[in-house]
Amino acid sequence: MRNYGPIDDFTVIELYSDVQVNRDNVEYYRGLAERKLLINRCGDCGTWIYPHRPICPECWSWNIKAEEVSGLGSVFMWTTLMQQRSPSAPHEPVPVAAVDFAEQKGLRYLSRIVNCRPEDIYHDMPVQLTWIEIGNLEWPAFEPISDSGRGGTR
Ligand SMILES: [Zn+2]
Repeated sequence: MRNYGPIDDFTVIELYSDVQVNRDNVEYYRGLAERKLLINRCGDCGTWIYPHRPICPECWSWNIKAEEVSGLGSVFMWTTLMQQRSPSAPHEPVPVAAVDFAEQKGLRYLSRIVNCRPEDIYHDMPVQLTWIEIGNLEWPAFEPISDSGRGGTR
């Protein structure tokens, strides 16, 4: 696994050149580069805020800081995309889900579901954060929490 350590804004912008890194999401991307899933949170009322916004939707505070989430959640809804890596390759199913974080009702994050057959995914399925490599970068994904793996594997 890659370990960048603390990285500066310039490096974050360079690593994630496909997205527009800005004031509201820079900590999120810095977190990804450090293999941490950070979500902005209001420093005054504690509301988690995602998608990224500069102001708290609950109390209108500008005191927003990124905090690491537990990575625990459940599948709210999902779909399966079919991906073909080259014209001669077979189509591969890629399950994508809106995951509700355990931290807050309605705090929802779009991500891949891995280590699970698409037909085994169900509404409210408990999931936990894991990481997958795409394009030389690591990205958050979610996997089912099995009874033996409950409580985390790290
Ligand atoms: Zn607030």
